[in-house]
Amino acid sequence: MSHDDPIEAPPEGASCGTHPEREALVTCPRCGSYCCIACWHNAVHRCHACLVRDPGPVVPWQDHERSLPARFFATLGDAFRPTRSAPTFVSASVRSGLSFAFLTFVPVALLSGIVPYTHTLGFGLSFSVATLGSPSGADIGLDIARAAGIGLLIAVAMLALLAVPYHSLSRAYGAKEQPPASLAVMLYRAWLIPLGGLVSSILVWGLPGEPDSNVRLIIEVASMVPLLMLVSAMLSTARMASGVGPVASLVVVLVPFVLLMTVAPIGLEAIRPWLPDPELIRETFGV
Ligand SMILES: [Zn+2]
Ligand SMILES: [Zn+2]
Repeated sequence: MSHDDPIEAPPEGASCGTHPEREALVTCPRCGSYCCIACWHNAVHRCHACLVRDPGPVVPWQDHERSLPARFFATLGDAFRPTRSAPTFVSASVRSGLSFAFLTFVPVALLSGIVPYTHTLGFGLSFSVATLGSPSGADIGLDIARAAGIGLLIAVAMLALLAVPYHSLSRAYGAKEQPPASLAVMLYRAWLIPLGGLVSSILVWGLPGEPDSNVRLIIEVASMVPLLMLVSAMLSTARMASGVGPVASLVVVLVPFVLLMTVAPIGLEAIRPWLPDPELIRETFGV
C-alpha cells in the first residue's frame, strides 16, 4: 500500500460521495471520490471503497508462497504495527486465525498459569524454585499441568468476553457486507491477552529482591503493553476492515473491555480456592 500518493482537498462545498449530507474533506488519490472523515483512512491513504476493493497484502500467515517460519514471525511482528496491518484482516480467514491462535495463544495461556497457580512449587527471587510441603515428582507434574490448565481456562474466558461483544458490535455498526475481520483479528491477536500476565510473573520471579514501588510500576506498565497493542488492533480493524465509523469504533472496543472489567473480579473470586497458600510460600522462602 503506497503511503506517498498525494492527497488533494476537494473543491469548496463538495459533499461526500457516500454520505451526501456530510462535507467532503479529502479527495481519494486512487479513485478520485470525495470522502468525509468516516470514509477516509488516513493510515493507508485511501477511501473505504478502495480499501475494500483492494485491501493490499493478506495476513502473512495466509501467504502460502512464504516459508512457515517466515509466515509465523511476520504475523507475530504485525502485532507491533496494529494500524498498518489492520487492512490485512479484510481478507483474513477465521480458519487460518484458529490455527495461528492454536500455535500462539494456547502455549502463552498455558505458560501464564504455571507461576501463579502451582501449589507444590514456590517461585522465589532470582528465578529460584522451592518445593512447598513434601510432594512427589508425580504430584508436582500433575500440579503444574493443572496450573497450566487454569491459565488456559482464564485466558479463554477473557478471549470470549472480549471477542463476542466486539464481533457482534462490529456487525451492528459496520458496513452492511463485511468480512469476518472482527473474529479474525481476535484469533490472530489472542496471544496478547495472556502475555501481560506471563511477562509480569516472569519479571517478578527474576527480581533479585522484593520490588520497590518504582520497579512495581515498571512491571505494571510492561504488563499493560500487550493489552494496549490489542486495543489498537481492535480499533483499527473495526475502522478499516469492518467499516465502523470513527466514533462508533470507540464504542465497539470500549464495551467489551468494560464488560471484562465488570466480570473479572467475580471470576477471580471464583478461582481463589485454586490459588496457592501465600502463608506457606512465605514460610518456605523465609520472607
Ligand atoms: Zn478511493
Ligand atoms: Zn462519507
